[in-house]
Amino acid sequence: MSPRRRFDWESLLDRLAGFYGTGDWRVPYLRDHAEDPFQVLIGTILSQRTRDEATDRASAALFARFPDAASLAQAGPHEIEPLIRATGFYRTKARLLPRVAREILERFSGEVPRSLPELTSLPGVGPKTANCVLVFGYGIPGVPVDTHVHRIANRLGVVRTARPEETEARLRRILDRRFWIPLNPLLVQHGQNLCRPIGPLCGECPIAELCRTGRARAAGRPTPRPEDALPRPPRPATRRPVAGATAPGRSSGRTALRSASRRR
Ligand code: SF4
Repeated sequence: MSPRRRFDWESLLDRLAGFYGTGDWRVPYLRDHAEDPFQVLIGTILSQRTRDEATDRASAALFARFPDAASLAQAGPHEIEPLIRATGFYRTKARLLPRVAREILERFSGEVPRSLPELTSLPGVGPKTANCVLVFGYGIPGVPVDTHVHRIANRLGVVRTARPEETEARLRRILDRRFWIPLNPLLVQHGQNLCRPIGPLCGECPIAELCRTGRARAAGRPTPRPEDALPRPPRPATRRPVAGATAPGRSSGRTALRSASRRR
């Protein structure tokens, strides 16, 4: 069995669930909107290239006015734009969302599909969005890998990947299927609170012992991702020679040449 297979996922997820189960922590949007596959789908499209807070606000405003495929399919981009202006590429999304709603109505009889190939056949729906619909909309095991899951999996040292798609493929191989559903919401919550993109708070982290980055930082060793290394303490200031100045008792090169020519 490879060392990666022995990684204690159960302990990792238990600790995160216990830690975030109490206290006033930020909660991922999808975890609280998991009962409606359509809103999971549209909310995840809105989250693309968008900060979590802006996704929360835009989703709430959009669904207050257009709560289902039938209403969104009829909406014009000019009606959607002001509601989702806080998200990245909002004009593109305002044109895309009614198209997605219409395809759901026309091709899938108004029901969001529940397989990866069907979901990714919808416009603007990639692997992450499709997996989110499976996990949060239908409770079907999937591995949604967003920026938080990708970053934390690399920090933990369980994968060494450059892109979320590679992380998803690797996690599908090494992660027992019973952990697929809880993985995303717990890692996203961890990424939003302690394991932040810049400056993770490893000293407060409940899974630091399981994490290669946490252990490396505590021991002053190189981290799996160089950008996660602790900043080096500032070096003591050294005196630099001022440009054009000469050391006491020594002549500049030009003066020495002049002296030598006078002696000749
Ligand atoms: S120890 Fe640090 S890098 Fe590792 S999961 Fe915790 S916060 Fe993230």
